[in-house]
Amino acid sequence: MKSICKKCNTEVLTITFSEEMKLEIWGMVSQDLKLFAVKKLIDEYQYSHKEAKTVITHMNKDFGKCHQCNFSKLEKEYAECPKCKAFNYNLKIDIPFNQEFCSILEYKLQFDELDIDNVKGFWCDGIDHFPTHLKRLTNANIIKNKQIITRAWIGKGGETIYTMIIKLGDNAIKNYLHNDSLIDCIPKDAYKNWISIDPEKKEIEIRLR
Ligand SMILES: [Zn+2]
Ligand SMILES: [Zn+2]
Repeated sequence: MKSICKKCNTEVLTITFSEEMKLEIWGMVSQDLKLFAVKKLIDEYQYSHKEAKTVITHMNKDFGKCHQCNFSKLEKEYAECPKCKAFNYNLKIDIPFNQEFCSILEYKLQFDELDIDNVKGFWCDGIDHFPTHLKRLTNANIIKNKQIITRAWIGKGGETIYTMIIKLGDNAIKNYLHNDSLIDCIPKDAYKNWISIDPEKKEIEIRLR
């Protein structure tokens, strides 16, 4: 299938990304790392520089939002913006490990409840919803690894970067594969049972149900 972007009059390639690649490229574009995304397509996927640039230029950062104008209701993938006529790949990436889950988990981390002297007064100021290896968020990799590794900002001022290992229990894996929210899989109370923190190693482990 060939598409023409009517805004810049360029032919836009149909992308045949694997699930892993789609996640990685989308992650880079979403984090404003377009140059790295272009480089990745050239280095790892044998795109020419021109092809890579054209693809990445037409990738919108947020689902629904045109990369060229303020239109924000693009409905499907491979969409032409009704307002400015720009072509948008509009990749629909719907993963349960998202910003909403991370901000709710952040609030549930009550370090004082752990009753450990060296983490008294600690709080979490953020959990990165772009994990260290984005491609590990594919269903196949979730089944294989049963965990997600990301970073979190923790400490008395919430300023130290920790490696956060989120272990997925049976419920969490089931929800993940059904594309249901992981929020219900955050245990309640009994904090010691599901939070382990090591301030020396700057590591924290969370065990979801
Ligand atoms: Zn264009
Ligand atoms: Zn537009």
